[in-house]
Amino acid sequence: MKILISGASIAGPALAYWLGRYGHEVTVVELAPALRKGGYAVDFRGGANKMVLERMGVLDDLRARQTGGTAMRFVTEADRQLLRLPPEFAGGELEVLRSELSEVLYEHSRDRAEYVFGDSIASLEQHDGGVDVTFERGEARTFDLVFGADGLHSVVRRLTFGPEQDFVSHLGYYIAGWDLPNDFGIERDGLMYNVPGKLASVGMDHRDPRRAGAMFIFAAPELTYDRRNPEQQKEILRSAYAGLGWKVPALLDGLDDCTELYFDSISRVDIDRWSDGRVALVGDAGYGATVGGMGTGTAIVAAYVLAGELAAAGGDHAAAFAAYERQLRKPVKVCQSGGNRAGKFLAPATRFGIAARNRLLGTPFLLNQMLRVGEKISSDFVIRDYELVT
Ligand SMILES: Cc1cc2nc3c(=O)[nH]c(=O)nc-3n(C[C@H](O)[C@H](O)[C@H](O)COP(=O)(O)OP(=O)(O)OC[C@H]3O[C@@H](n4cnc5c(N)ncnc54)[C@H](O)[C@@H]3O)c2cc1C
Repeated sequence: MKILISGASIAGPALAYWLGRYGHEVTVVELAPALRKGGYAVDFRGGANKMVLERMGVLDDLRARQTGGTAMRFVTEADRQLLRLPPEFAGGELEVLRSELSEVLYEHSRDRAEYVFGDSIASLEQHDGGVDVTFERGEARTFDLVFGADGLHSVVRRLTFGPEQDFVSHLGYYIAGWDLPNDFGIERDGLMYNVPGKLASVGMDHRDPRRAGAMFIFAAPELTYDRRNPEQQKEILRSAYAGLGWKVPALLDGLDDCTELYFDSISRVDIDRWSDGRVALVGDAGYGATVGGMGTGTAIVAAYVLAGELAAAGGDHAAAFAAYERQLRKPVKVCQSGGNRAGKFLAPATRFGIAARNRLLGTPFLLNQMLRVGEKISSDFVIRDYELVT
């Protein structure tokens, strides 16, 4: 079949790999002019994640690039330690930089798929014989199937299911990440600094110790801004963090020369069906949670299941989409719910909340309990074993 995938971050290239391997003719269209570089580290947990990465043949490559996890050290304005969370807390069993993961998946799939950068789907029209697609720049084309792997603000979801506000709920926080010189003497541990409703943090870049990555999370009602305008997003950050001490002014100065800014709301996507006719959603577009919802592992597993079900159903897309959803809806919902707590956990709204978090997680027993909950969720994620094609 001729298949179009929108989005070339994680879910898109993973799906392109599998569909190409099953013999389909795949095109991936990505809005950005090249593979996006931004983002912090993302992690994999549990047997299902590992099995899929292994079957894709990328596990060793990712292991060679793994960060080893980064401990999170929450500090006072004078850098006195308040709480230290061990590397496995945020880093799971295998942690890599999001940009490196995206690059590995792209390199791994590019000879099985056509990649078109700097374009976006403009319209989709389904009929019995396929889906007619027009693009913002390229020529109109017809595909048998179209997949939305284009993240939280998916254009495929909007064009097929309706406006974003019907499916995406803002969870009260924004997240931003950018790269800058490591003028902070940061080595292994990432440093985290809180004031009520805000987190500022900085960690070393694992590829190049001379570089660092900043990550900010702040509470805010839903903001109106242009998602394609990083300068405007930088202004939002500067004004949200104006007047704060610690390393905040220096981190904000780093915005001037960063390579790429990642800026998004912490939101979750809830939609009561993941497909409509010949169109289906995969990854954050269908069930994202921005941060804390194991979105990366879920996207990888979902791409494997979606392509596997399509092969198992002999190309009957309606049967395949139903089976894909039946199999994943429950475990995905459990993982996604972690996203509801991420903002409140990393940037509690009050001084009392910050102190309570530090006190609770400073207790080894409670910290272990939290680590165990994460392990249980990821080990409950069990998927069908598809017969592989060569
Ligand atoms: C630049 C960036 C940085 C990130 N940083 C982090 C991080 O630090 N920590 C974390 O946990 N998660 C991060 N994420 C989110 C994380 O990648 C996802 O939660 C998860 O991996 C699922 O991936 P996905 O491919 O479904 O969605 P995403 O990773 O969100 O990818 C969606 C892709 O679709 C593209 N796209 C959007 N609109 C269109 C369009 N109209 N046409 C074509 N393409 C489009 C986007 O440019 C992007 O490449 C980041 C995502 C991006 C894009």
